Amino acid sequence: MKVYYDKDADFNIIKEKKVTIVGYGSQGHAHAANLKDSGVKKVNIALKDSSLSIDKAKSAGFDVISIEEAAKVSDIIMLATPDEIQGKLYKNYLHDSIKSGSALAFAHGLNIHYGLIEPREDIDVFMIAPKGPGHTVRSEYLKGGGVPSLISVYQNKSSNAFDIALAYGSGLGAGRSGMIETTFKEECETDLFGEQVVLCGGLTELITAGYETLVDAGYAPEMAYFECLHEVKLIVDLLYEGGIANMRYSISNTAEYGDYVSGKRIINDKTRKEMKKILSDIQTGKFTRNWMMECAVNQPNFKAIRKKAKEHDIEIVGKKLRAMMPWIGKNKLVDTDKN
Ligand code: NAP
Ligand code: MG
Repeated sequence: MKVYYDKDADFNIIKEKKVTIVGYGSQGHAHAANLKDSGVKKVNIALKDSSLSIDKAKSAGFDVISIEEAAKVSDIIMLATPDEIQGKLYKNYLHDSIKSGSALAFAHGLNIHYGLIEPREDIDVFMIAPKGPGHTVRSEYLKGGGVPSLISVYQNKSSNAFDIALAYGSGLGAGRSGMIETTFKEECETDLFGEQVVLCGGLTELITAGYETLVDAGYAPEMAYFECLHEVKLIVDLLYEGGIANMRYSISNTAEYGDYVSGKRIINDKTRKEMKKILSDIQTGKFTRNWMMECAVNQPNFKAIRKKAKEHDIEIVGKKLRAMMPWIGKNKLVDTDKN
């Protein structure tokens, strides 16, 4: 595995380039701010006229242009909008008018890997995919660090695409912790698997099921919240710092014994078999096909599940308890008024 750092990148390559970030959401705001702070002279944001993000981007000091305009003037266009709209956006605004010899950049491989975007042949196509949420890409950068990122070139028209990608990643702060060379396919499939099985789907269901089990058994919801959600952060900090052994060093022997005997009852052969099926649905494109079909009819299931989940008891109890711990809200990663 090849890992690149700031010393391997020539940041000067993109200093003078016109970089446009399409979308000013989780990744978009972080890419724009980090590149600007690193010294890229012209960073624009492209949004549609009706966008709710226009004020946020302007308040942060960026010029906001249309996507049509971005196609004409940009040397690098980073697509930082939700994945499900990128295909349409590319087809409607970029395919015919993107500048020949410019670069189209992605923060995730999905649209290229599953053929939802077939880029014109006279442009570079590269990916810098941070291995963390956009708000963390920004907060780590501000602390002097960076979120490790995956780097790949799909199309190398200029013969310089990899160096441009390295310079972009370096501006993002990724060169401080490492840019790992990969393919769009590998990034995309492992990323979807990770978020579905472990990071998002697996973790939220684990937390919720634990919470419900305690509450159903008559324990106080506040107790269940602290035990099953709040403490996850404390354990994850230990894992993040030094791996599983580091975490087990810190917990009591009783907790460690319970970890060994009960963990495997929760993640058992049946769970592992299901993980393989989920991976297969990702590899065959079934998952993405279903997701795009859901999007084609305006996401009715997605929106209904999201609404129901927000109303779950664990969210209500959590909100009340977090209000008693005001320090958690200080220096928030997510401030929806700004980012
Ligand atoms: P996001 O926060 O959901 O993006 C929202 C932004 O896109 C908003 O500014 C929104 O404007 C804008 N937008 C929506 N529709 C648009 C349109 N038709 N034209 C122009 N702008 C539009 O997106 P994200 O989660 O950062 O994801 C961006 C990319 O990064 C994706 O490829 C994703 O896979 C990848 N990625 C994300 C993360 C993450 O942390 N979220 C991590 C790694 C990689 P409005 O305010 O008007 O809606
Ligand atoms: Mg992901």
